[in-house]
Amino acid sequence: MWEYGGYAGKFLRLDMTNKKASTVPLTKEMARLHLGGNGFGAKILYNELKPGIDPLGPENKYVFASGPIQGTMVPTAGRSGVFTKSPLNGLFFDAYGGGSFGPEMKYAGWDAVIVEGQAESPTYVTVYDDKVEFKDASHLWGKYTFETQEIIKKDLNEPKAQIACIGPAGEKLVRFACTIWGARAAGRGGNGAVLGSKKLKALVIRGTNDVEVPNVDEFLKTVSEQYAKILANPGTGKALPSLGTPGVTTVQNQLGILGTRNWQTEVFEGTEKISGTAMRERLVVKDKGCMACPIYCTKLVHVKSGPYAGTIDEGPEYETIFAFGSNCGVDSLEMIAKADRLSDDIGVDTISAGAVISFAMECYEKGILSKEEVDGLDLKFGNQEALIQMMHKFGTREGVGDLLAEGAARAAKKIGKGSEKYAITIKDIENAGHSPRGMKGYCLGMATSTRGGSHQDGRPTGERVGKFDRKILDGKPEYAMGTQRTTTLQDSMCVCRMTEGIYGLTEVTNDHLNMINVVTGMNLKLPELVDITDRIWNVERSFNCREGARREHDVQAIRFMTEPIPDGPSKGMYSPKDELEMLKDKYYELRGWDKTTGIPTKDTLKRLSLNKQAEDLYK
Ligand code: SF4
Repeated sequence: MWEYGGYAGKFLRLDMTNKKASTVPLTKEMARLHLGGNGFGAKILYNELKPGIDPLGPENKYVFASGPIQGTMVPTAGRSGVFTKSPLNGLFFDAYGGGSFGPEMKYAGWDAVIVEGQAESPTYVTVYDDKVEFKDASHLWGKYTFETQEIIKKDLNEPKAQIACIGPAGEKLVRFACTIWGARAAGRGGNGAVLGSKKLKALVIRGTNDVEVPNVDEFLKTVSEQYAKILANPGTGKALPSLGTPGVTTVQNQLGILGTRNWQTEVFEGTEKISGTAMRERLVVKDKGCMACPIYCTKLVHVKSGPYAGTIDEGPEYETIFAFGSNCGVDSLEMIAKADRLSDDIGVDTISAGAVISFAMECYEKGILSKEEVDGLDLKFGNQEALIQMMHKFGTREGVGDLLAEGAARAAKKIGKGSEKYAITIKDIENAGHSPRGMKGYCLGMATSTRGGSHQDGRPTGERVGKFDRKILDGKPEYAMGTQRTTTLQDSMCVCRMTEGIYGLTEVTNDHLNMINVVTGMNLKLPELVDITDRIWNVERSFNCREGARREHDVQAIRFMTEPIPDGPSKGMYSPKDELEMLKDKYYELRGWDKTTGIPTKDTLKRLSLNKQAEDLYK
């Protein structure tokens, strides 16, 4: 066992320019202060990237990282994360995927893989334990992600290899391209374009090492207790295994917070047709789970008839149903499954892809984009065929696909004509499928978050399930910070969000603590764990502040700050700027950030042992 249980004790560095691999030892201090996952990703990128570099240039880096629990049987520990400077907004961005890639990386003996430089020609890299090889990937360039994985497995005669790869969108530097392993996506922020810029088509991993823990009996006892909790909980024991995340679609609509037709409204008349129940009845053929997960929330679907017959897809998740369904005015689950499968094949983030299309649809309907400008497509809301054609254009950057491949915020700047207000983005990241207008705490959590338009920093769940009153302002700064703490911790452990209802929606709990301690033997105390989450959050914030992010960037999409929801159960709700500013004052106070600038104060940084950040930001 390394100094602590769970860790491999080293990082792998891949220099794409010189085709060289080297080992970076993990230090005890790094593990104890930054834990893993986003903790490692943020710390590495903060230390190794110069501010102002081009996210698609050779100086950017891309980090695959896991935490101490990956490769063990801790529930939902099959996940792992990727970290880079985002080509969408030039800020720190993290994205996570399930499956088994992270555990395999650990079995190969690595806690993280740092990819840097740029190869001259398409390359893929194989990592078999300590043996690393750079290989020519010319024959794979242009191939879809599923085909890429199949070819590599066959060529190498390694059917069990875990392969992270990009599709044509990553190669073409589509700014919302993603990384795919198996059928799982580390979806958001454009990480696939960063791999494309490095000409790294795929990273293949196979490992034979064990992951060791200090006391196996204690570990098994703790883990068994957690499995029992998961199975006894109505959400993770029943609702998610039955309907998966698509079960949320109906609830969102009932509350009047389901983004519809580019968020022009938040009730969708076609909800029943795209609900989790409809999907279960019509399309689901199998329930699937990630490694070490008893929840089996993933639904394998098969479209058997109609224009999309033959589509087999792992998913779609709720976010995808929102993105290609209600938000594009589409009520066909079959088309949504097709678009989802295409997204994975081409290698784009479904949320951003759907959001960019819905943005273009609104521009088209309002006469801002003409039919000629959208390549002759009748890009009205609800036009399924046009939507699928747009998806193909992302993979080729053909015609209007080239403009929209830049993401909604950049595309709006190019289009002009007032289209900026139809780009529903926060910090230039397309908004996920949860309503900042209809949930006050979530709204603040997103605005102040590292990732902006992602629903993975500030969380909607507590307000959606009614544990917190979504319509009032009281307690919302605390709610926003609390949800950010739990998500930061989950992402440093690389556990699945689906466990948030069990382990804590707004608090760092003893459940988290026990799992970390029983795997690592660190014997952390709860306040130390809270400090770890705050440290990670402040490294991310410092990264963004070093890039120029300030208080004025902690805002919502224009529509959410200026247009009340026009109808439905949440009619009249929105987030006026002065209300948001008032909440931010209190939030910054709680965080220990300067109220004028939004930068963490020197005292806050020093308290969290972030002396380098304090020096950099207060030169
Ligand atoms: S809850 Fe679903 S997504 Fe999360 S780890 Fe389990 S199967 Fe994977």
